[in-house]
Amino acid sequence: MSAEQMHFKAEVSHLLDIVVHSLYSDKEVFLRELISNASDACDKLRYEAVTQPELLNGDPEFKINVTLDQKARTITVSDNGIGMTRDELVENLGTIARSGTSAFLEHLKEKKADVTQIGQFGVGFYAAFMVAEAVEVTSRKAGAEESWTWESDGKGDFTVEEAAKPARGTDVVVYLKQGEDEFTTLDRLRTIIAKYSDHIAIPVILNNEEKPANRAGALWLRPKNEITSEQYKEFYHHVAHAYDDAALIMHWRAEGRIEYSGLLFIPGMRPFDLFDPKRAHGVKLYVKRVFVTDQAEGLIPPWLRFLRGVVDSEDLPLNVSREMLQNNPVVAKIRHGVTKKVLSDLKKFAADKPEDYAKVWENFGAVLKEGIYEDIEHRAEIAELVRCRSTASDGWVSLSDYIKRMKEGQTSIFYICGESVEKLQRNPHLEGFKSKGVEVLLLTETVDDFWPGAMGEYQGKAFKSVTRSGEDLGKVSEEKSQQDKKEKSPPEASSELIALLKLALGDAVKDVRTSERLTSSPVCLTADEGDIDINLERFLKQHNQIRTPSKRILEINPAHPLIEQMARRAKEPGAAESLKDIAWILFDQARLLDGDTLSDPVAFSERLGAVLKKAVS
Ligand code: ADP
Ligand code: MG
Repeated sequence: MSAEQMHFKAEVSHLLDIVVHSLYSDKEVFLRELISNASDACDKLRYEAVTQPELLNGDPEFKINVTLDQKARTITVSDNGIGMTRDELVENLGTIARSGTSAFLEHLKEKKADVTQIGQFGVGFYAAFMVAEAVEVTSRKAGAEESWTWESDGKGDFTVEEAAKPARGTDVVVYLKQGEDEFTTLDRLRTIIAKYSDHIAIPVILNNEEKPANRAGALWLRPKNEITSEQYKEFYHHVAHAYDDAALIMHWRAEGRIEYSGLLFIPGMRPFDLFDPKRAHGVKLYVKRVFVTDQAEGLIPPWLRFLRGVVDSEDLPLNVSREMLQNNPVVAKIRHGVTKKVLSDLKKFAADKPEDYAKVWENFGAVLKEGIYEDIEHRAEIAELVRCRSTASDGWVSLSDYIKRMKEGQTSIFYICGESVEKLQRNPHLEGFKSKGVEVLLLTETVDDFWPGAMGEYQGKAFKSVTRSGEDLGKVSEEKSQQDKKEKSPPEASSELIALLKLALGDAVKDVRTSERLTSSPVCLTADEGDIDINLERFLKQHNQIRTPSKRILEINPAHPLIEQMARRAKEPGAAESLKDIAWILFDQARLLDGDTLSDPVAFSERLGAVLKKAVS
């Protein structure tokens, strides 16, 4: 039977092009990738064989053979793992199934990433084409009779043809390119295997030598002091399919009512798909050293979905099915233990290495904050880890830093939500707070619209958005600045002006009041006590969750020259008519400053035109 020729999917060709032409200086990592895949394949079969021992067919010893043929200039990586069917060969090697890689290509297209970053994603199997002029993969699925050979030069096409492999598993043959002579000695290959694959739990045998070229034990079961940082690093790369440096490594053994080992990593980089709703955590569940699944839903809470690594349980039965894991009480207890461990290690990390912790927070803080409203049990502990920007400092501020700096008479933790710190800094709502020296937290992530409300208070201090009206600022004692001792509290705005504004704006506002928060702007809009927060409402509107926005309170600054003038005019006859346009312009201006759009821009510019004309004439 002749070979069938097929094309790579367009994105694979694109990726191959990048791999071959612009990438790695470290070409040697191709061997790491092939051994990593061989090890994954053995893990998969070992788990399947728990319930279907016949799949092992008299060959229960998993191993990976690396064979160098100097004359033919080939390196073959063979495993007796699960193998691939014809369809799986086409699907797994002819398309990009890995979410990380396809997300990377997306970003590349949208110019949000550049080619050099791909090293942090890795290209898995395709790395072979860095050193190969052709790659041949022959595979026989465990339990199947037939076998198939997939072959490609990595240039756009591949072929698939029936083979005659005598036993299950996969052989990957790398035909070295001209010039790649460094990989044609056994010593070089031995060094590469020791460097990258020592932690692989299955023996890697080089050219049928007696002693494996790696140590072949589960790394997470070795005592910590026997593991080098290089070994942790390579294990992280393998288990996470990631290529950055982990920011934090957590390695422990839980003993007592429930026994398990954990080796977890917090990545050094934020993955592109962190907020993809389909994204699950990446922690692999092992039972007594047998890989079970990397999709045990209840093992890790969703707000820790950035974790990578391994949990190995002593208490689950070996033949546990993936379905049985749902709502399993042992899994729930492990989750509880893992959550506690991660939270306490993060707390220690934040105290010991605040700068490194800040990077973790920048990458994953938005996800951790989801835990504050989702996970009531751990809410208080997560809140200790929260770091915010604020009006009082350029760096990150913790909630307890904030509380320590609170002013006399201040009872609330003030915050404001918006698009960016720079925009928020200029928001008129902050004026009064700044002039009284009251710190305000500047929150800019979507999740920030939700967690302060969900949490309600921290250490007995209520969270309060400064876009909400209320008496709070009045209760805070004045900063005792030497020059301005005699500065009095602002005058009440004239009742005539307030009445006039209410009349002019009618239903557009809920109320008009004197402001205690404004010092330099004439007006701002606030949400009434109990009404929905302004920024949250904007978010819900964008997501079509709200149709009719709630009415706001217009606050006016009686000390502002424009308002003073208007107050004087308000007492004169005919004022209602002459101030009407200005009332509306001020209202629209307040909305613009909040980052809102105008409901009627045409009317706005007509009014503005009329007022300007009067001013010039
Ligand atoms: P990843 O390992 O991150 O999934 P790769 O590009 O390394 O990505 O491999 C792609 C897929 O090809 C794997 O997910 C696996 O399904 C399949 N595969 C590769 N090598 C083997 C192998 N030796 N045995 C079985 N399947 C394999
Ligand atoms: Mg791989």
